[in-house]
Formats: sequence, C-alpha cells, structure tokens
Amino acid sequence: MGHNKRIEELQKDLINDIIDVCSIDSAYDSKTEKEGMPFGQGARKALDWMLEKGRKDGYEVHDVDGYAGDIEIGEGEEGLSILGHLDVVPARKEDGWVNDPFSPEIRDGKIYGRGTSDDKGPLLCAYYAAKLFHELHPEVKKKIRVIFGCNEERGSSCVKYYFTKMPKTEIAFTPDAEFPVIYGEKAHVGFEFTKTEKDDVLISLDGGTVSNVVPSKCTAVLKGTDKMYRDAFDNFLEENKEYTGEYEVKNGNTVVTVIGKPAHASTPHLGLNANIGMARYLVKFMDNDAVNFMVNHLYSYDGEGLDIDYTGELGPLTLNFGLLKMNEGKFYMNLDLRVPHEIDNEQMCQNVSQMASGYGMETKYTYGNALIIDRESKLIKALDAAYKEFVPDGGDPMAIGGGTYAKSANNCAAFGPAFQGENTKIHDANEFMDLESLCKATKIYYRAIERIML
Ligand SMILES: [Zn+2]
Repeated sequence: MGHNKRIEELQKDLINDIIDVCSIDSAYDSKTEKEGMPFGQGARKALDWMLEKGRKDGYEVHDVDGYAGDIEIGEGEEGLSILGHLDVVPARKEDGWVNDPFSPEIRDGKIYGRGTSDDKGPLLCAYYAAKLFHELHPEVKKKIRVIFGCNEERGSSCVKYYFTKMPKTEIAFTPDAEFPVIYGEKAHVGFEFTKTEKDDVLISLDGGTVSNVVPSKCTAVLKGTDKMYRDAFDNFLEENKEYTGEYEVKNGNTVVTVIGKPAHASTPHLGLNANIGMARYLVKFMDNDAVNFMVNHLYSYDGEGLDIDYTGELGPLTLNFGLLKMNEGKFYMNLDLRVPHEIDNEQMCQNVSQMASGYGMETKYTYGNALIIDRESKLIKALDAAYKEFVPDGGDPMAIGGGTYAKSANNCAAFGPAFQGENTKIHDANEFMDLESLCKATKIYYRAIERIML
C-alpha cells in the first residue's frame, strides 16, 4: 500500500495548491464577460491557474474557449475521465465569514474558504490521485482526462460547450457531491414568474443572490413611514419566530429586511427562506396578486403549495424559491426544483403555469432530465468498492437532488467528497474542507482510479 503513504506525503503540496486556487474569486461576473472569458475574468483566472498546473506537471492541456479545459495524464486510449468545476457561488466576508472567503485559512484542522469543498478542493484531490496513479503505474498505457468547467453553478453550459468540441467520456466520475457513490440525480426544473403590478406601498424588493441557494436575506423598501409597517413587522416576527429581521427609516422611506438561513437548493429544508418570510410580512398590509401568489403557493419546501409534492425512488421533490425582485412594479420570482424521475415535467410545468396565471403571473420554465445509472455497472461497482475500503459501513449507492456534471457527461457518477454526517457549508459562509477528510477522499479517489484503470 505504498500509495497511501505517498498521498500523505503529498498533502502539503495539495493543501498549498487548494489555498492558491481558492484565493481566486471565480464567481460568475457579467461585467467582464468577453470572448475567451464567457463567465468573466475570475473564472478565466481559475481556468488559467489549472491549465498552468497541468503544463508545469508536464501534461498536454486544452483550453476550450474559456468555457472549460482539460489535462491529459498518461498516454494511449482514454481509460477514465474526471470532471470538476472551478467556478464558485459568490461570497462576501460580511455574510458571516470568519476569514475573507478568498483568503483561505487553516484553523482547527480545516481549510476555510470559498471553493475549498465545492469544488476546487475535490478537483485537486482527484487530480493528485490521477497523477499519482501514473507515477506508480508507468506500465499502464491509458489516459486519464481531468476536465474542469467554469460555469457549473449556473447551469453547466461550460461542459455542455466543452463536449461539443471534445470527445465524450466513456467512463467518468465527478467529485462534486458526497459519499457514498451517487447513482441517481433528480431532474432540475426552473420556473420564472413575472408580473407588472404597480402599487403605492412597495418601492422595491430584493431577495436572494442565485437561484440555487435558499435566500438568507430579503429586503423591501416601502413608501413613507406608515406606522402599520412597524406594527405588521412586530406581528410578523411574533408569529414567525424562526425569522429575524431589521427595520429602519431611510430617506423618508422604510427599509425592512427579513433574515433567514442559507442552504443549498437541493436541501431547502436545511435553510430558512427569507423570500417566503418577506411575503408573509407584506401580505399583512398589502393586497397584491404577486404577494398573494407567493403566500398561497410558494410557501413550502416540498411543493405542497403548488400541488406537486411527491416522493419517488430518488426521494422527494424539493422546491427553492431562490430569487424575489421587484422594481418599478415589475415582479420577478425564480424557483429551483429537484424532481423525481417518475414525474412528467411538461405536464407539471403546465399545471403550475396555469395556477400562476390565475394571479396574472407570466410563467417561463425549463427542465432537464433525471439521471439513473445501473447500480450493477462497472462504474458504480468500482466506485462503491473503493469507498467501502475506507468506510466499510458508509452506506450503499444513493440518489440526490443536486444536479452535477454527471448529467452532462456520458456514463458519469458523482462521487464524494463530503462524508456522511459532514456538512462542509458549501454555498454558505465558512465553507471548509476538513484536512483528514481531504486525505481520505484522495485515497478513495486513488483506489477508484486503480479499480477502473487496471
Ligand atoms: Zn459544485
């Protein structure tokens, strides 16, 4: 078992690399979009970092127009692909971080920083494992292709583009979820509702930053300083004790902020939705169709309010009301749903649109496919066996709500890096990668590579 010792020796380099690449703020930035950097300059910088890493290690690398890139490790036919992503969801220190999210820090055996566990850290663990595989198995004449995209968090257009230019994968995994190995992923469904409804009370609404995170903050600007705003606010907080909030008078108007708790959209029950809290507050003194729609139909994490709550083989339907905006009477709402494969998405979307139209809302929707991989396939068996070498009673292949790159690639399963019971705060403040878990995940990836390549 020489490889485990080598992996431990390599830890220091691996950690330094993770700190280095996580120092780049690679969140999507529309202001710096241009040819060659379709997701802005931060994502471009992270891509350059990774390509340079591969070059320095002596491998052939490809830059696919700034959407994604790859590093080819080894010679010959391709034996395996690994996919990870270099973009991150936005992070700001003032949102509860101890250290600056883009100045990673080690404390208590963990690296804290945006991207440490989603997904730059795991991508590098797998890259190190792939590199080590060829170092220890020079006799194997098969390539490992490490693919990295720059737009996973906003719909994976990066790898979709990549696969229009580069060969599809034969067998692959993506270290961008959790253990045990994931054989199924629910379908992703997105809804956008819009309506123009002028109002003499509400000036603007601003809730949420991205659709796939449970919004932790929603702010309303209300015209004037009517006493009922304050009374309704006290009343709202009294009735909804899970929420907190802020109330202030600014430039003659009233600014109300409802505060909830962030979580990933695929596990909305772990968060507390500030947009829903805001709707419950507003409905106390407003009679507005858009507000009524939210209160009557968007209130629950399982879709009950839209009459679409359902649990299938891959688990329950989940709903995240991620974005709520209003300006000059123009309302915008965005929902992110994860839907069991048994549901007919077109039918469901039409039913929801019809319900919304009853409130004068216009609906746009998109949906993708669910993913199910045969649990008896070579891929699932190899990953499962590698995992069980280290975590013998860690559970069998499972299904999740999160959509990973596995859906955009061929014969690809999500695999790690979070261990069961470990909440690494992805998409949240103080995201981290535990150093012991990091080492263990790298060992598991190494063995998974051996099991597939040998
Ligand atoms: Zn991710």
